[in-house]
Amino acid sequence: MDFNDTPEEAAFRAEARSWLEANAEPVDPNEADHGIGELLTPEIVAEAQAWQKKKAESGWACITWPKELGGRAATPMENVIWNEEQGHFKLPANIFSIGIGMCGPTILAHGTTEQQERWIPRLLSGEDIWCQLFSEPSAGSDLAGLRSSAVKDGDEWVVNGQKIWTSGADICEWGILVVRTDPEVVKHAGLTYFVVNMTSPGIEIRPITQVNRAQGFNEVFFSDVRIPDDQRISEVGNGWTVALTTLMNERQSIGSGMGIGALEELIDFASEIEVDGAPAIEDRQVREQIADYIVKARGLKNTSLRTLTAISQGRPPGPEASMGKLVGAALQQEAASFAMDLAGTSGALLDPEATPAAASWQERYLSLPGLRIAGGTDEVLRNIIAERVMGLPSDARADKGIAFRDIPSGPPNS
Ligand SMILES: Cc1cc2nc3c(=O)[nH]c(=O)nc-3n(C[C@H](O)[C@H](O)[C@H](O)COP(=O)(O)OP(=O)(O)OC[C@H]3O[C@@H](n4cnc5c(N)ncnc54)[C@H](O)[C@@H]3O)c2cc1C
Repeated sequence: MDFNDTPEEAAFRAEARSWLEANAEPVDPNEADHGIGELLTPEIVAEAQAWQKKKAESGWACITWPKELGGRAATPMENVIWNEEQGHFKLPANIFSIGIGMCGPTILAHGTTEQQERWIPRLLSGEDIWCQLFSEPSAGSDLAGLRSSAVKDGDEWVVNGQKIWTSGADICEWGILVVRTDPEVVKHAGLTYFVVNMTSPGIEIRPITQVNRAQGFNEVFFSDVRIPDDQRISEVGNGWTVALTTLMNERQSIGSGMGIGALEELIDFASEIEVDGAPAIEDRQVREQIADYIVKARGLKNTSLRTLTAISQGRPPGPEASMGKLVGAALQQEAASFAMDLAGTSGALLDPEATPAAASWQERYLSLPGLRIAGGTDEVLRNIIAERVMGLPSDARADKGIAFRDIPSGPPNS
């Protein structure tokens, strides 16, 4: 593996950098980030949509997607370069992470040409925002245990049930939805995958307030919601296969954000803040701690490059992609906690006016536990690594081979 850019990659990087310099402001380490669960005002949403539109018009939106649908058919390595370069610039709230990171790739992999032409260009240009309606009150890690149901009625499906933790449901036009269409078979076999219009009659969205006062996610209730059959993405009963594509993309897109960038910000922060009358960065223990984080981040980057090498050689990304999120989320949480310690007493405040770095470390510290849960909890990711990377015996599964209706928790919506 060669870590340097090839001449073509260097030329691509220069082109990306030059477009970004002409169209965006460099990152200001003293300005707070848009946190995971920030309250999304209409102004923030409009700003994010305008940025996405600008990228789409210049050919820099969803660059790995097919040219005929608005992308530029870039290689995975070019995508890494683009993301690295974007990381140096101030970007609006990332309200498209679910649409672009999960819904789009799933529709590209499993949707019909008609479905792709209907949804992908508007998703890519930021006109439509998408959400993921998977988790339920009793189905998170055990997603295949979900109970929301759909029953066929002519050319439509009638959906009833409840979803929870649906990020951004209150600002979305469309959502990807997995529901049970057959309770008589084993739990993974009776699921079907749909796209649902979030303004459909019968959908009720209730925001959930988080520890950092934001309302990043919602409860979503379905009461006799009708979905046309042409919005079905999977074969009836084969939703689990399609859901796995979404989940793999989710882990990869969450994991790939865990980089050196946040640690560069930590170095800037430690250079500006004083401890015992001198910049914190001059303290040997502070430097050692930051060096330790950087070693871990480099290890993560090299692991993700191994995944990229596999993709560029035509091999699928393996379950080792789970490592990025497992190690990266914990690493970011530790780094945010360390930055708050460096800030002394003001480190405990979440007040952009009163605290160093505009409270961005506090904001991250409060948001990051969610990242260790979303897209697979730490424990579930460890199970995946143990079973599929290390080849250890699988977790005990008491409901294996049992029809969903006969699992002791009861039938759907009971
Ligand atoms: C910030 C955030 C955003 C989210 N956004 C969305 C979204 O947009 N759409 C959506 O559908 N969902 C979303 N979720 C939900 C997320 O997918 C679930 O929270 C996650 O899958 C865990 O499910 P759960 O909360 O039901 O916890 P549970 O599955 O009930 O887990 C509870 C505890 O048990 C442990 N556990 C469970 N099973 C095992 C096992 N087999 N072995 C060992 N330990 C186990 C878990 O690790 C955890 O500690 C989001 C969550 C967060 C935090």
